[in-house]
Amino acid sequence: MADQNLLTVNVVTPDGSVFEKQSPMVVFKTTIGELGVLPNHIPFLASLAIDEIRVKKNGSEDQFDEIAVSGGFVEFSDNLATVVANSAECKEDIDSERAARARKRAEERLEKAKQTHDADQMKRAEISLRRAINRLNVAKH
Ligand code: ATP
Repeated sequence: MADQNLLTVNVVTPDGSVFEKQSPMVVFKTTIGELGVLPNHIPFLASLAIDEIRVKKNGSEDQFDEIAVSGGFVEFSDNLATVVANSAECKEDIDSERAARARKRAEERLEKAKQTHDADQMKRAEISLRRAINRLNVAKH
């Protein structure tokens, strides 16, 4: 029988499941703010910001698994939080040098788009930049 004091967090991307663990608490950054979820929370569906998910480690006071997500959705019901994201990486799987290169490319694209007043390209570059900065932030916590 499932432990009623724990919830399960499952993070899935088109490449498959990147994280699945039981936890006493998880904190999501949704597009309308931070949402801390304890076991037996009421069901919800929320869209996620390009930010981190913090999953409290079972049996620890203040240790968290950290996952960088590039937006997506979280659905919670029956103590199962299912995150569906285009991409997500656990902190320890993040390649910081790659993210730093991606940040530089995005900054250059953003600068060029500003000069040419290309609003679409500007928006795409801003999103790429946010993904790269998020990975760098999660990796260095
Ligand atoms: P890049 O330009 O470096 O590919 P990106 O933001 O375009 O960055 P995405 O399209 O979001 O990359 O992701 C493509 C795949 O690569 C996904 O599986 C994602 O988890 C992985 N990925 C992207 N950047 C990193 C990174 N810095 N470290 C580890 N995995 C990464």
